[in-house]
Amino acid sequence: MLLQPLHEPAADRAGVQLLLLRDDLTHPELPGNKWRKLKYNLQEARRLGHHTLLTFGGAYSNHLAAVATAGRLTGLRTVGVVRGEELGQLPLNPTLAQARADGMELHFLDRATYRRKHEPAVLDQLLHTLGPAYILPEGGSNTLALPGCAELVQELKADFDYLCVACGTGGTLAGLLTGLGGQHEALGVAALKGADFLRDDINQLTQQATGTTYTNWTLHTAYHGGGYARLSPELLHFVREFEQRHGVLLDPIYTSKLLVGVLDLLERGYFRRGSTVVAVHTGGLQAWAGFRERLTLPL
Ligand SMILES: *Cc1c(COP(=O)(O)O)cnc(C)c1O
Repeated sequence: MLLQPLHEPAADRAGVQLLLLRDDLTHPELPGNKWRKLKYNLQEARRLGHHTLLTFGGAYSNHLAAVATAGRLTGLRTVGVVRGEELGQLPLNPTLAQARADGMELHFLDRATYRRKHEPAVLDQLLHTLGPAYILPEGGSNTLALPGCAELVQELKADFDYLCVACGTGGTLAGLLTGLGGQHEALGVAALKGADFLRDDINQLTQQATGTTYTNWTLHTAYHGGGYARLSPELLHFVREFEQRHGVLLDPIYTSKLLVGVLDLLERGYFRRGSTVVAVHTGGLQAWAGFRERLTLPL
């Protein structure tokens, strides 16, 4: 897998080698962590004889996009339960339009019901209406999401000391922790505001998947940049400059904040001098289509 050196003054000053793991390039149609999280869930869905995947997401969800693409590539029927009434989302944004083009059936759920989506009564009603299905949680983070993410560690054939990843639900970080098996150090950078609860979620996921809670990791919650999916002018500026310096486009929700966080931690002397830091580009570039559309609209 491609490990791209990032020549950043902050890394030079800190005496640290900074590498970007280009997991955004691993699959032409299903790049990044969303595919890794799906891999073993798809096997399980088939093993259980399911023909339909049903999952949940907001209107710009990388996970919905990935499930729709996976459905098209594997021939499984896909149903996406989308947060918010349909009327508020017409015309469909590029993420949802592409999901529908990939064959996903979109089912819109008002926000109050959506909040209760994992309650048995709501799930039963959905399955009753939409037909039997293998259910993937929002963001795709369940115990079967972890082994696919863990494989990234095995594929990473390089010496490193720190492995850094952006966190939404924390499933990807949990998978990396199981792959690291207590070795090295992992850092998560939270994309949402008030993400302290993620520490428990991550521990719970690794505990369920492997019977272990790990201590070789930290979650950094100060780099949400105003909140989930808030693209501030500063963050947009950072993304543009990063692309000019390195020829790499970061996504607007996750990897942009990851790199802001890693560069700030480098400035603060967080990483040991002489160490190698790997940041994972987890993909998510499909989100730009929707953001571009929003950016050109008057507010
Ligand atoms: C979903 C996503 C993440 C966060 O993954 P979690 O497993 O939910 O923490 C990080 N980067 C990108 C590009 C994503 O789409």
